[in-house]
Amino acid sequence: DAETRELVTIISRSSLHLKNIVNDTHDFSKIEANKILFETIDFSPSEICREVVAIQKYEAKGKGISLTFEQKGDIPLALLGDPLRLKQILINLIGNAIKFTAQGFVTLYLNAKESGENRYRLALSVEDTGIGISGEDLQIIFEEFVQAKRPAGNKQRGTGLGLPIVKKLVELQGGEIAIKSEQGKGTRVMVEIPYQEGNPQNIKITGQEINMIPGLFQRISVLIADDDEYNTLLLRNILKKWGVNFTEAKNGKEAVEASENHIFNVILMDIHMPEMGGLEAA
Ligand code: ADP
Repeated sequence: DAETRELVTIISRSSLHLKNIVNDTHDFSKIEANKILFETIDFSPSEICREVVAIQKYEAKGKGISLTFEQKGDIPLALLGDPLRLKQILINLIGNAIKFTAQGFVTLYLNAKESGENRYRLALSVEDTGIGISGEDLQIIFEEFVQAKRPAGNKQRGTGLGLPIVKKLVELQGGEIAIKSEQGKGTRVMVEIPYQEGNPQNIKITGQEINMIPGLFQRISVLIADDDEYNTLLLRNILKKWGVNFTEAKNGKEAVEASENHIFNVILMDIHMPEMGGLEAA
């Protein structure tokens, strides 16, 4: 009913907000502790941009603004580097652009400049027609926990850690970031990151196959052994959605008993459980 729906929407929004805070804080402390690692794998820069835009299109649409992607010139089919970190940078910048734009558009531009033999500088820019940032705030916007001053009553969500994280991620990869903005007109954030050219044949396709659950799954039987109610609930929902038959056990002892009466094709078992742990049960 309407009331439950409203409450669920509030819970959902709040948990999303909380998740963002936790993620930002986690990333930030990892960066501070010099514990951040970058992968070196082949990826398609155009594909990453398209994916990020596809993910955020819905959010932009909800606000009545358009989100588009444009690439200029020749873009290498593959680069070597960390595609997930690149995605993280873009999601953050586009997220801000959508958040601070009430009408108009947000555009992601992609360009690649050759910078040596088999080397490129990927130039990305996120442009919006939003509220912009004052000259004074622009000086400090990359500092931790800074949020631009807004007229009273305009409560801002967020941690003020997004841009500092993006800046660190860009710089740790040998890149540069710059921001231009005019109050009331819009903002443009430009990022350049150097990459070695990659091999398109080594690009792993991810994501797409997730929705296709093999029919075989519906003929296997699974045992879930976990004392954590949340994990069990999550697994239960996933397996139900996939049409998989499953049995539940709350500890290793129950798991062993269940396996004595039935042959399971797969056992998903926690290690730390009361009465009998997962290793002993295995
Ligand atoms: P957060 O978005 O979590 O507050 P950020 O570090 O990502 O933190 O951004 C810091 C501040 O910079 C924001 O609070 C906002 O005031 C300003 N800002 C960032 N991006 C934009 C943008 N595209 N348009 C207007 N203001 C922006």
